[in-house]
Amino acid sequence: MPDGVRIAVRKVACGFLDLLFPDDCRVCGEALHEVSRIPVCGRCLRQPTVLVSDTSSPEGVKGLDAVYSFGAYEGPLRKLIHLFKYEGVRPLAKPFGEFLALVLPREQQFDVVVPLPLHWRRLFHRRFNQAGLLAREIARRWNVPLRNAMRRTKFTPPQAGLTSAQRRLNMQGAFAPRRKGSLKGLRVLLVDDVLTTGATAGACARALKRAGAAHVTLLTLARRDRRLAREVEVMI
Ligand SMILES: [Zn+2]
Repeated sequence: MPDGVRIAVRKVACGFLDLLFPDDCRVCGEALHEVSRIPVCGRCLRQPTVLVSDTSSPEGVKGLDAVYSFGAYEGPLRKLIHLFKYEGVRPLAKPFGEFLALVLPREQQFDVVVPLPLHWRRLFHRRFNQAGLLAREIARRWNVPLRNAMRRTKFTPPQAGLTSAQRRLNMQGAFAPRRKGSLKGLRVLLVDDVLTTGATAGACARALKRAGAAHVTLLTLARRDRRLAREVEVMI
C-alpha cells in the first residue's frame, strides 16, 4: 500500500474509533459517555452564557456600526474556542452558531454575511478559516447569503505587546475586496471568533465600506476583556 494511502486509511480508522470510544471531556476532564463528534460534555457545552453587557460597540473603532459578542473570552468558552480553532474540532461550529444566534437581535437585517478572512499562509497551516465556519452557521440561520467577499492582502504577525495605535497601523491596508464594487449599498454582517481591541475587525470594516458597504455589524463569539487586551493575542 502506498504511504499516502496507508496514512489516509489510518486517519479514517482513528476517526472512526474516536467516534465509538469517547474519552474525556476536553474542557473539564470528566469521562464522556455519549458518542459525539464533539469531545466535550453537555454540561461544558451549556455552560457559556450570554454576557449582556458585552454588546456595546468598542469606542473609537471606525468602520464598525454595531458589535455583538456572545461572551467573555475566558473559562469554558475560551477552551471551546481553542478546541475549535487550534485542535480542529470543527463540529463545534454548530453549537457556536446557536450562541451567535442568541446574541444577534432577530430584527436586525443583513444583505450578506462575510467572514473575516485569514491570510492564505495562515489558512494553509490551519486548513480552515474558523470565522468562515461560524459565518456559514449564522448565514444559514438568518437565511442571508454567505460571501467570502474579502481577502487578506498583508501577512501580519501576532499583535502581542502592541499598543492600540500600533495595532491599527499594523492592520492598515491588510484587507481588500475580492471584487470591486460588489458590496455597494449592502448591510454586512462581519463574523469573527474573538474580538480583542477591534483593530483587525475595524480594518476589515473600513475596507468593506471602501468597497461600498452601507453598514457593517460585527458578530463574534467572544470578547476579550479590555484590561487583558494587551496580553498575548494570537492573531486569527
Ligand atoms: Zn466537560
